[in-house]
Amino acid sequence: MTEQQFQQLIESSVRSQYRFRGHWEEFDSDESMTVNHQKIHSVLSELESRLNDNFPFFHPRYAGQMLKPPHPVAVAAYLMAMQINPNNHALDGGPATAHMEMEVVQQFASMFGYQEHLGHLTSSGTIANLEALWVARSIHPAKAIACSPDAHYTHRRMCEVLQVPSIVVDVTDIKALEAEFRKGTIGTLVVTIGTTGTGSVEPLNQILPLANRYGVRIHADCAYGGFFMLLAGVEQPIIQPKPFLSLKDCDSIVIDPHKHGLQPYGCGCILFRDPGVGTVYKHDSPYTYFTSNKLHLGEISLECSRAGAAAAALWATLQCIPLSSTDGFGGILTKTREAALLWDTDISQLHGWKRYVKPDLDIVTYFNVPNTFSASSVSHQSQQVFDLAMNNGAHPLFLATMNVDSSTILQQYPDFIADTPRTKIIRSVLMKPEHKFTAHKFIQELDRIAHSA
Ligand SMILES: *Cc1c(COP(=O)(O)O)cnc(C)c1O
Repeated sequence: MTEQQFQQLIESSVRSQYRFRGHWEEFDSDESMTVNHQKIHSVLSELESRLNDNFPFFHPRYAGQMLKPPHPVAVAAYLMAMQINPNNHALDGGPATAHMEMEVVQQFASMFGYQEHLGHLTSSGTIANLEALWVARSIHPAKAIACSPDAHYTHRRMCEVLQVPSIVVDVTDIKALEAEFRKGTIGTLVVTIGTTGTGSVEPLNQILPLANRYGVRIHADCAYGGFFMLLAGVEQPIIQPKPFLSLKDCDSIVIDPHKHGLQPYGCGCILFRDPGVGTVYKHDSPYTYFTSNKLHLGEISLECSRAGAAAAALWATLQCIPLSSTDGFGGILTKTREAALLWDTDISQLHGWKRYVKPDLDIVTYFNVPNTFSASSVSHQSQQVFDLAMNNGAHPLFLATMNVDSSTILQQYPDFIADTPRTKIIRSVLMKPEHKFTAHKFIQELDRIAHSA
């Protein structure tokens, strides 16, 4: 999209606001609201200069954390709705955007294969997960919540908030998992489909039958990986489809549209397979509802106020970029996945570089091996490459580092000297489709940088 086209979208969002206001009689805005126009300009100009203190999240050269700007459609739609400022807590707070929320949540539920569902948007993945665990606690009040060591760190924190005991289990060791289930202490297991660190997909298809046998509830945290569902149902999938195809049988699912869904921050989503969990939310709020007898979004949500604009932005985005395997989001995710495959192949073939884990989605983890293949020298080299890449003149590359257990490297590379318990490696999130066309060039740049370190 050209700058001019984007400006037209923004202008039409602003104009729509004046048309909306034009439906009601005019009034003079109170003088207490007036700000000197010069003052606004100078403050915004200071804001612009302060915002330069950011990394170029929009650029393919940014391949660090899970960050990228929203799509222009989402920006224009958010702006259009935000000027009205509907609150999706209740139908009275924003009927239009509440209906949009129900539509997009239905689209996610269908994408995952839920026949029926109860769900809504949230302000983040953390809050969506909290809600899933809160419902889980109500269903298994005396039992623990388990997750793998690679689960998002907030799960254990939220268990503290909920005062539920949390257990860390290795979900990839099915035998050990069964032994844990047999003890009868675990009520709910969190399975992560796309871990935040390495993008690894946990073996949900193997875990589910076991969980069913022992009456354990399964919550799938797909905050990052959820959109890859679109690549699972195709004829020749470029991801492992089985864990994704099992999502339809999980008790609850979280997906974060503000991660891979091209949305501004403030957009997570929780889905429950059994609408009957609605009874857990029972509350009595005397002042928020009066226009409808239907279940309000606020009645099935932990949070109260939420931006209706977030629902509008997501709704408009999904109209333009559909949840389809072949085009729309499927097309984007195919390219980010291919970028990771290219990156991983290049790393495997290049002398002096090694992969940490095989990428399941579009996050790659790897390291450069200096003269000594030890934890301490790999850590030092990772930091060097990270710093030099970021400060590489006109061609900076923004990566991320990650600390992993040295023992996991030793398992794959027997000649590794685990002289420190943890090793710093390099991590790249290739969540922009443009990464497919820049992966090869970037690896070559990184190799030159590593040689100069
Ligand atoms: C990002 C992430 C979260 C937390 O979501 P926020 O939207 O940042 O609160 C939870 N789980 C996983 C797997 C994530 O990647």
